[in-house]
Amino acid sequence: MSDCFFGGQGTCSGKLTGEHYISKTVLQAIGGGTVQIGGVPWVPEGTLKSVGIGSLVSNILCEGHNSSLSKLDNEAGTLFRALDAADKKPESLAPVTTVDGPLVERWFLKVMCGLAAAVGFNDGTVPDWWKQALTGGALVRGLGSLRARAKQVCTSASC
Ligand SMILES: [Zn+2]
Repeated sequence: MSDCFFGGQGTCSGKLTGEHYISKTVLQAIGGGTVQIGGVPWVPEGTLKSVGIGSLVSNILCEGHNSSLSKLDNEAGTLFRALDAADKKPESLAPVTTVDGPLVERWFLKVMCGLAAAVGFNDGTVPDWWKQALTGGALVRGLGSLRARAKQVCTSASC
């Protein structure tokens, strides 16, 4: 199965799945059913286009790899729901929202992989070191500067 962007990292299994290259749980948190998107080939440079989140899907991961990376989507969903609530309904937040920083940074890398595989970001290439970093390998070559040390996002003044 050569079209799974995570090919070469363990064994692909199952069919290719319609994967949201920006996680559905995050898209729902920040936009509901529709989001504004830009910087992709089908949107003129410097503009944004309103699209339904169901259209931001491509067959880029096998079922097995999609399942193995789902914890990244879940962690990013927790973070983005908390950020959205802090903006729109701060009274609804618990005093502390706990997220795993390394999982979130790997989620950002998973989005980069998805954008490469689905829309041609990075010339359509998913480098092996990106794949290795997704599985817990060291984040190097520039992403190291994004490394999160904190494991909590404080959402109240008392933290
Ligand atoms: Zn696969």
